[in-house]
Amino acid sequence: MAPRVLIVEDEENVAYVIRTALRLAGFATTETPSGRDALHLASDADPPDLIILDVQLPDLNGFEVCKRLRFDAVTTPIIFLTAADSVDDRVRGLTIGGDDYLTKPFSVEELVARVHVILHRTGRAPESQVFVCGDLELDDTAHVVTQGGREVSLSPTEYKLLRFLLRNAGRALSRNQILDHVWDYDFDGESTVVETYISMLRKKVDSSPPTLIRTIRGFGYRLDGT
Ligand code: CA
Repeated sequence: MAPRVLIVEDEENVAYVIRTALRLAGFATTETPSGRDALHLASDADPPDLIILDVQLPDLNGFEVCKRLRFDAVTTPIIFLTAADSVDDRVRGLTIGGDDYLTKPFSVEELVARVHVILHRTGRAPESQVFVCGDLELDDTAHVVTQGGREVSLSPTEYKLLRFLLRNAGRALSRNQILDHVWDYDFDGESTVVETYISMLRKKVDSSPPTLIRTIRGFGYRLDGT
């Protein structure tokens, strides 16, 4: 299910730009130009995952909408939009319970990025089930690994190992960390099993340059690339 964003904005062209960008980024959207309407939509039985809230609205201003929602214990994250580039407004927006703030004119890329960050921070973003690194792709939903578009056959342990490396791409992982996460039980320090499996994985998915799996001597491994 795509996260749903409620856009509260009375300027139709701005609402249009936000709606288009969010839908392209895979979000579902609902919209209203009215602050009062937003109060109902936000405390609905099927509430949005995030609210983009314009401050200057014709009926009830955005700050008031936010205050009332927080008073009613609605904790949905809120990003304020305003034309006023004042520190006062920014502080006000955040102290009454807003999560972030964008000043018009803003770039939609920036807005979409903030939406991602806030949904992630508040634990409302669905965890990505597809991991990509270089020409390697692991689709955890379909349980399929492909390289350069061709399917690679991995044993269950190789698959778990690769998934762990991909989830932590760019991060150095110690042999013990890998043991804990991939094997789920204590090997009493026999970490040569990690080396064995890394070596098998390298043969299957990392045999030609540019290679992705780096050995960190005396420590463990790191998956490089994006
Ligand atoms: Ca407005």
